Amino acid sequence: MATQKMLGFVHTEQRMPEKRKAEARRQDFNEIYARFTDKGAVEQANRCSQCGVPFCQVHCPVSNNIPDWLKLTAEGRLEEAYELSQATNNLPEICGRICPQDRLCEGNCTIEQSTHGTVTIGAVEKYITETAFDNGWVKPIVPRMEREQSVAIIGAGPAGLAAADQLRKKGYQVHVYDRYDRVGGLLMYGIPGFKLEKDVVIRRWKLLEEGGVKFHLGVEVGRNIDMRTLRAEHDAVLIATGVYKARDLGGPGAGLDGIVPALDYLTASNRKSLGDTVLDFETGKLNAKGKKVVVIGGGDTAMDCVRTAIRQGAMSVKCVYRRDRKNMPGSQRETANAEEEGVEFVWQTAPEGFTGDAHVTGVKAYKMHMGVADATGRQTPLPIEGSNFTMEADLVIKALGFDPEEIPSLFGVPELKVSRWGTVQVKYATMMTNLDGVFAAGDIVRGASLVVWGIKDGRDAAAGIHNYIQAKIAQGLAVAAE
Ligand SMILES: Cc1cc2nc3c(=O)[nH]c(=O)nc-3n(C[C@H](O)[C@H](O)[C@H](O)COP(=O)(O)OP(=O)(O)OC[C@H]3O[C@@H](n4cnc5c(N)ncnc54)[C@H](O)[C@@H]3O)c2cc1C
Ligand code: SF4
Repeated sequence: MATQKMLGFVHTEQRMPEKRKAEARRQDFNEIYARFTDKGAVEQANRCSQCGVPFCQVHCPVSNNIPDWLKLTAEGRLEEAYELSQATNNLPEICGRICPQDRLCEGNCTIEQSTHGTVTIGAVEKYITETAFDNGWVKPIVPRMEREQSVAIIGAGPAGLAAADQLRKKGYQVHVYDRYDRVGGLLMYGIPGFKLEKDVVIRRWKLLEEGGVKFHLGVEVGRNIDMRTLRAEHDAVLIATGVYKARDLGGPGAGLDGIVPALDYLTASNRKSLGDTVLDFETGKLNAKGKKVVVIGGGDTAMDCVRTAIRQGAMSVKCVYRRDRKNMPGSQRETANAEEEGVEFVWQTAPEGFTGDAHVTGVKAYKMHMGVADATGRQTPLPIEGSNFTMEADLVIKALGFDPEEIPSLFGVPELKVSRWGTVQVKYATMMTNLDGVFAAGDIVRGASLVVWGIKDGRDAAAGIHNYIQAKIAQGLAVAAE
């Protein structure tokens, strides 16, 4: 019970402000959901007023037909609700769990806007899909016809998986190449298991495999196989490689032991939970147990790090961010959860260096104040002179965001057009790059984004690839007929 309280699952409703009450109801529903009872889901679905202005749907990147599947759920027609929900979303069980719904569908629910607390759309989506899996309604793909054309997909993250699903349904021979040993990309190794259980990702992987998608794991494009070969062997290629170049911190002491990148830390934790032997975890390098942890950054990755550190039994966990709470990029809901779990937020603070001989012992920082807004309307943080101080730390996790790797040089295609940030440029109508038959989707196009946007891009790219291949076939037939 004490742990449950610490992790924010127990609420004393009477003392909470309205907004927190709504959140508490949501958590309670999640708890009901976790036991797979229908009551919570039907109650929630019944709360939808069918308002006729589906802002929830408009703000869902894959345009899920939310009001209709809520109605079907309320009527107990779950198989139909599932059919409708999976028609627009290739990974509904995953989005239901980890979409930042407060910024998307639920944040725009009319009932939420009228201060009565949102319909818990994500939880219902998860419930519908889990019920479908339990009842055997989710089946491996059986394409209506097999096509001889093949597509290579580089990257088995959400964008690659959504495209693979869509293309395989059309009967293409789909080959997914990934440098990791497991499918899922950040779903598997980035996002922690307390937000997204790994068996949920593995179940989807196996389902796609049963449906005929071929996964080539441990294959790094640019090292084990080159782009030229992929283009020669397949009718189209999709780049869905995500963004993995971690932004770094400088300053005196930046090279000390005990200062680690967020993704190394999260990957070690995820691998450990999957039963892998992780040397850096065993030696304590990537394990927060008993440590004074300082996480630098204010995004969702930082929230995942602080919450993982708490679960690993850290002595204390601080999150250092240079702006104030309302200007942080991370989800407000996750921040509130982290606070409830015991994380201390050190707002308007920037690191300037680290103390320690060989191993870090502290983070030197100074306070910031919020200055005038820049061209984007966001206030610029400015240092406060003489405000320097040092925080004790024996594990510092850098969670400052990610940039794209240099795809044109890595893949040996210098002519591939990228933006000044290194993201691959596409024509959005087709998702094709400037290279004929080479498409791109997900974070590598948008920069670090969200799972549901990756799915949307993967679906759009699959449509673009289908049109491209069909046009090529039609062209070939026309030439042959001349
Ligand atoms: C810690 C963390 C937590 C997050 N939490 C959330 C969340 O709660 N909700 C949410 O919606 N989003 C979250 N995100 C963002 C989300 O995970 C990404 O937006 C999404 O995974 C992007 O999908 P993708 O398919 O483009 O790329 P990825 O998921 O990154 O997948 C890319 C794949 O390509 C492979 N690859 C890369 N280069 C090569 C190569 N050369 N050869 C072969 N394979 C290659 C990689 O191994 C990887 O498997 C989080 C991100 C992080 C880092
Ligand atoms: S996919 Fe995400 S945004 Fe869309 S309905 Fe589901 S939880 Fe909401």
